[in-house]
Amino acid sequence: MQEQGTISIHTENIFPVIKKFLYSDNEIFLRELVSNAVDASQKIKRLSSLGQFAGEVGDLIVDVKFDEAAKTITISDNGIGMTAEEIKKYINQIAFSGATEFMEKFKEANDANEIIGRFGLGFYSAFMVADKVEIQSLSYQEDAAPARWICDGSTSYEISEGTRTTRGTDVILHINDDSVEFLNQHRLQEILDKYAKFLPIPIHFGTKSTSEPDGEDEEGKPKYKSVDVANIINNTNPAWTKAPSELKDEDYLAFYRELYPYSMDEPLFWIHLNVDYPFNLTGILYFPKIKNELEVQRNKIKLYSRQVFITDEVKDIVPEFLMLLHGVIDSPDIPLNVSRSFLQADSNVKKINNYITKKVADKLQEIFKSDRKGFEEKWNDIGLFIKYGMLSDDKFAEKANEFCLVKNTDNESFTIKEYYEKVRDIQVDKDGNIVYLYTSDVAQQDGFISTAKSKGYEVLVLDGPLDTHFAAYLEQKGGEKVQLKRVDSDVIDKLIQKDEKVELTLSEEESKKVADVFEKSIGRADMKVEVDALHADELPVSVTIDEFMRRMKDMAKTGGGMGFYGTLPDNYKVTVNGNHPLVKRIVESEAEEGEKLAKQAFDLALLSRGLLTGADLTSFVKRSVEMI
Ligand code: ADP
Repeated sequence: MQEQGTISIHTENIFPVIKKFLYSDNEIFLRELVSNAVDASQKIKRLSSLGQFAGEVGDLIVDVKFDEAAKTITISDNGIGMTAEEIKKYINQIAFSGATEFMEKFKEANDANEIIGRFGLGFYSAFMVADKVEIQSLSYQEDAAPARWICDGSTSYEISEGTRTTRGTDVILHINDDSVEFLNQHRLQEILDKYAKFLPIPIHFGTKSTSEPDGEDEEGKPKYKSVDVANIINNTNPAWTKAPSELKDEDYLAFYRELYPYSMDEPLFWIHLNVDYPFNLTGILYFPKIKNELEVQRNKIKLYSRQVFITDEVKDIVPEFLMLLHGVIDSPDIPLNVSRSFLQADSNVKKINNYITKKVADKLQEIFKSDRKGFEEKWNDIGLFIKYGMLSDDKFAEKANEFCLVKNTDNESFTIKEYYEKVRDIQVDKDGNIVYLYTSDVAQQDGFISTAKSKGYEVLVLDGPLDTHFAAYLEQKGGEKVQLKRVDSDVIDKLIQKDEKVELTLSEEESKKVADVFEKSIGRADMKVEVDALHADELPVSVTIDEFMRRMKDMAKTGGGMGFYGTLPDNYKVTVNGNHPLVKRIVESEAEEGEKLAKQAFDLALLSRGLLTGADLTSFVKRSVEMI
């Protein structure tokens, strides 16, 4: 039997085009060929279980070998094999409607995956790295003859009798000069680790050495020797393919280490995903410790399709805020081989997105309900992630409202609703607004915090990287008439203005004089002086920064689209308490003495905010020494 023919596509020579186009992604040839071998192995298993194959299935295994001298890579399986007829049918006819269409479409395609998937070019990806590909195959069918097919990357092939004596297929790649990098143990190991680590049929690649116990030495200590054992790349039965009821915590943690061997941290908890309607999806998502920064996580979520690794670029499939999670998602329903824009529009992808979001929210709620204390303890690690989710996803926010925690300066935790109930009757101003006081820096704003607390008020700690935005969120969704005010954004009685009116004991003229004295002694354009009627026991001078301006500036800093505000200078308000005895003294003093007192009181206010530095601080210290 010897036959020569032409591969049935209409274009003269399509391979140079494919090769050139796919070049950047060429390592996936191995993924494609190994997956084909795995498919062929699973097919024989299935035929056997259906009673359509009576022979011995045996131990199914896929073997990958390379020969540096001969410049070949061989992928072998003991799957169903192919007859010459089948090779002609499956391999020669490239599974796409026509070369013309291909030539048109390939121009729009974004990457190799897309081309391969769209046109069923799995097998032909071999020509990205080989200038000659040979198949030796023996079909499982009774009395089948071994077949050999060889093709040099042009459109002509040769088919003849083969030499294989056992069921299965060898695909032998004669590696081209541009691809010799693949004739390397480490490189192949790396590619197999990446794509084949969880395939369902064992993938064998050479040997590896491990140490084995070897009796005892003279001192009675155990000895070890190095032995070569078969190098099996994969775990054929990874945790996500099992039922959650079969798995213990240790199994989930062990699988995490298997996924990310270089990870130092253990995950906090995990979610086992398992749906088969309306789409098929399994997986395990782990919650890492996020700490207080939105760093790009090293351990990305990996996407699989029937245990074949596809990518760790899961954008579009996983909601943006969930990209901070780790783990695997496996779905044959995700259209892996199509373009980004298609993915975004795909309704399955959208459903998957919503499903994952819901599962994550449900899991968090479950932990919150069943173990609130544990949840509170984990808050420092998961709070940032939850806030990120709430700010970026309304559906998630709806659920998370129930378990999102806020903490006060005494480190007590409340849900958003609990907090509202706690302060609604106390921190209400004359217009009925419920004012949440918060601090962005407990140490620096200590003076303001203790003043607020002395009034019986609560102060929330919002000092995380997203908290400027979260403050705005609380205002919109945290309860009716809620306003957030940073504790240092005005004097306390202005922050929560009550009905009672404090009379100013200064006359209008005196008040004007006080303002002048202060303005003159301060002498700074960015400090606006205001004389107010406060209680006599409040501080004589406070320096505050307007809530609105500051928030806009903070948002500009964290990329909230308030760029314009970022360019403005800081503007402070100097509130002088007209009812304080010190102010009375200033009114009664000589001009020079008055200015000195005013300056001293102002510097103290700056000092309490950590704003007094440099030469100003030096002269303050000097002046203070003189005064005492
Ligand atoms: P796909 O795998 O997407 O169908 P391929 O081009 O990779 O496309 O393969 C075409 C067909 O060739 C497969 O569907 C299968 O029938 C056959 N085939 C490929 N490799 C093997 C193999 N190792 N053993 C048996 N059949 C194979």
